[in-house]
Amino acid sequence: MKIDCECGYVIYDSSDCISYKASFIADLDSFDLCDKVEEQIKKLVVNIEYTASNKIDVDVLIEDTMIDLSENIIDYYGRRPIYQCSGCGRLFVDDNQFHTHVFIPQDDSVPKNLLRSIEGDEWKFNPD
Ligand SMILES: [Zn+2]
Repeated sequence: MKIDCECGYVIYDSSDCISYKASFIADLDSFDLCDKVEEQIKKLVVNIEYTASNKIDVDVLIEDTMIDLSENIIDYYGRRPIYQCSGCGRLFVDDNQFHTHVFIPQDDSVPKNLLRSIEGDEWKFNPD
């Protein structure tokens, strides 16, 4: 996927770990997400207690749970992306119907890397 920004810059989304992309979770959905994660953890604990007979079984159950969390729960609640153009700083934000809305920075003082990791330069694969 790509976005052609009005400034001429092209925003690409064809890999993971993109420094100019974020996925956001509406505040109204955050407790629902936490409830789903808690539900998965409780299921995992029960599955380990009643079906796992060795460490390999436990590892498989944990991996299955992590896949389910990632693919079905986190991806569901966090599937709305935000992109920031590295050229001009415009933000491209999807609403809950996945229609993209564009926001232009007020002036040049607005950083063009707003969506970087909270770890900043310490992030493990910092591309900058
Ligand atoms: Zn731009």
